[in-house]
Amino acid sequence: MVMEPVIPTSAKLRSVSRLARVCTWLVGLAVAFAAPVQSASAAKLSVVTTIAPLAMLVQDLGGDHVEASSLVTGATSVHAYEPAPSDLMRIAGADLLVSIGGELDGWLDKLLVGKKPAAVVVHLLDDGVAASASEDPHVWLDPVWGRDRALPSLVRALSAIDKPGAPQYEASARRVADGLTNLEEDIRAILADAPARGFLAFHPAWSWFGARFDLHPVGVVEEGGGTEPGAGALAALLDAARASGIRAILIEPQMDPRLARTVASEIGAAVVLVDPLGDLGSVDRGSYRNLMLFNAHGFARALGSVRP
Ligand SMILES: [Zn+2]
Repeated sequence: MVMEPVIPTSAKLRSVSRLARVCTWLVGLAVAFAAPVQSASAAKLSVVTTIAPLAMLVQDLGGDHVEASSLVTGATSVHAYEPAPSDLMRIAGADLLVSIGGELDGWLDKLLVGKKPAAVVVHLLDDGVAASASEDPHVWLDPVWGRDRALPSLVRALSAIDKPGAPQYEASARRVADGLTNLEEDIRAILADAPARGFLAFHPAWSWFGARFDLHPVGVVEEGGGTEPGAGALAALLDAARASGIRAILIEPQMDPRLARTVASEIGAAVVLVDPLGDLGSVDRGSYRNLMLFNAHGFARALGSVRP
């Protein structure tokens, strides 16, 4: 769903200040909707996403027309994000804001309350895809979701802001969709020979990935962001891991690995790095394709295709 910008409507606003705000909003709206996008970098659409994989998809789609960046970067977890002042400025200056929506990055909407920028805001989960059997919001880790759900929404949003660019967005969407189809096949091939199909993840982020590639979670080290399991839950986890012959525990750059390492040594397993969020500045995890291949190879090692 594409949400149009709304005018702040606090009844307490004095009419003069309200008029000023409306004018500011109208100017922003006019700039966002009327400015034809040229190839000059100054005219690029500024797209700010909550998480890097969405910025990667937007950049693949928009090419020279857009400059995509994410709010969550580096070793920060999307579940523990706190905005920096510079993030608020980027939000205010964006032409398009993209979030997954719901529990995962609902903090974006909270940041917008009372200060809606002149940007179009897209929540990718508003199409009802969240109402599946899985409660896991890490939908982007399924490349087919990226192709069938995210791409159409992103094309609509970019085309609405930049009407002259619409045919190009449509064309590049077909190319990106083909790339995601190839990516799914490549990941399937990487995981085809894995002797085990059960995995032990650090946090419950991989059910969409697992469902797509016929892998199943044996358990997770931590249920929520930063919540360590109690003694009973930890004992049950160790039992499940031993019973499933878990050879490696999946750790993530955004999560403290100490508990995972302790669990791993307890059951004689290794740890293997996978990354649900990626990093726009990195070579091996800086594009959606590279990020997902990185994860596929990590899972293949953890599942015993290759020594971890
Ligand atoms: Zn997560």
